[in-house]
Amino acid sequence: MKLSCIDCHKEYSIDSFRYLCDCGNLLDVIHDFKSIDSEYLKQIFNKRLADRVSPFASGVWRYKELISPELETNHIVTKYEGNTGLYKTEKISNYIGNRCTWVKAQSENPSGSFKDNGMTVAVSHGYSLGKTKFTCTSTGNTSSSLAMYASLANSESYVFVPNKNISVNKVLQTLSYGAKVITFEGTYDNGIQFLEKYSDDLGLYVCNSINPFRIEGQKSIIYEIAQYLQWKLPDWVIVPGGALSNVSALGKGLNDLYTLGFIDKIPRVAVVQAEGASPFHKMVENNQETLIPNPNPDTVASALNIGDPPSWKKGLRTLEQTNGITVSVTDEEILNAKAIVDQSGIGCEPASASTVAGLKKLVAQNVIDSDETAVCILTGNLLKDTEILKKYHLESNEEAHFANSIISAELTIENIKKL
Ligand SMILES: *Cc1c(COP(=O)(O)O)cnc(C)c1O
Ligand SMILES: [Zn+2]
Repeated sequence: MKLSCIDCHKEYSIDSFRYLCDCGNLLDVIHDFKSIDSEYLKQIFNKRLADRVSPFASGVWRYKELISPELETNHIVTKYEGNTGLYKTEKISNYIGNRCTWVKAQSENPSGSFKDNGMTVAVSHGYSLGKTKFTCTSTGNTSSSLAMYASLANSESYVFVPNKNISVNKVLQTLSYGAKVITFEGTYDNGIQFLEKYSDDLGLYVCNSINPFRIEGQKSIIYEIAQYLQWKLPDWVIVPGGALSNVSALGKGLNDLYTLGFIDKIPRVAVVQAEGASPFHKMVENNQETLIPNPNPDTVASALNIGDPPSWKKGLRTLEQTNGITVSVTDEEILNAKAIVDQSGIGCEPASASTVAGLKKLVAQNVIDSDETAVCILTGNLLKDTEILKKYHLESNEEAHFANSIISAELTIENIKKL
């Protein structure tokens, strides 16, 4: 294993403890997969499904050979993340207008979002290097996840949280796990720039998605979908785009599976952004050479409220590798799709529902056929943003098409019968 620049391809050792190339671009983890036998590994991966207590019981570390083969097992910091449900429901399919839509509920992760898939690898790697002070900047879920793993590793975490457009629940979760939470005037983008510059001086190990080990862990989401479906992936994978780390990991994971012979066809990827924070979609739609940051991102989907996604070049690579597309959806579309996902019994936070809203739109536009198969990645848990739930269900609002308000009634048999 080594690190390599995505742009100039300069190489670094994996112990070099750096996130950026000298040229300023992001790094990739490059594996030496020469000795991989995919048929043999499929058997190993299937056997590990029966394991409940070793690190291989994790839905990330089950695939250790494809993620971090050289890490010593006793350095793994895990909460058996991954292992999340893959569902098909009539309610969601009908809403989208597509008969075969799966949803992958990353919301079922231990801290309630897919950030756990990547964070277990970043923290384990830091731990193996002897790091005991971890940091990130985040609109919420990355902080909660980091705080959880840092505490699990008996280490400290320092998280930098913008003071606007964030969810109270996520901050409270982070505080509860014991992180030091520092809030600042500015956006996620300002926080990232600060850490890129000063984390070394501060002696902090950065666990944002500029950390290439996060991406390695997040590849497991597509590995798991593939394994659950007997290594036959749907035609489309629909993923939300914020910082674009998940999109990047998806492309890298698909590329691994295809080049190693686990799958014989690469699905197409559709990246969904929220209209108020959609610089990546705009770049693709307008055929721009480079991403033009949005200095004032503004969407109700806090996890997507990012105007200058650090991983846009990796995201673009995913589109190239998968013949991928982008689409944007409004906050109203997101919240109504979320209500449907919630009422289907699965539940998710607003950012996640952008995938359902995006797929619905793409089916309506005939970009995706109603009988093509698709999987929407649901990234975060229903309880991550209760302020939004309160607004949607309890404050009368014309745009909330599926609001479900509380009924107050005097407890008499006649009253309740009538209801
Ligand atoms: C982080 C996050 C996203 C965005 O993922 P990126 O990798 O930043 O593009 C989407 N949904 C949820 C719930 C998240 O926590
Ligand atoms: Zn470089």
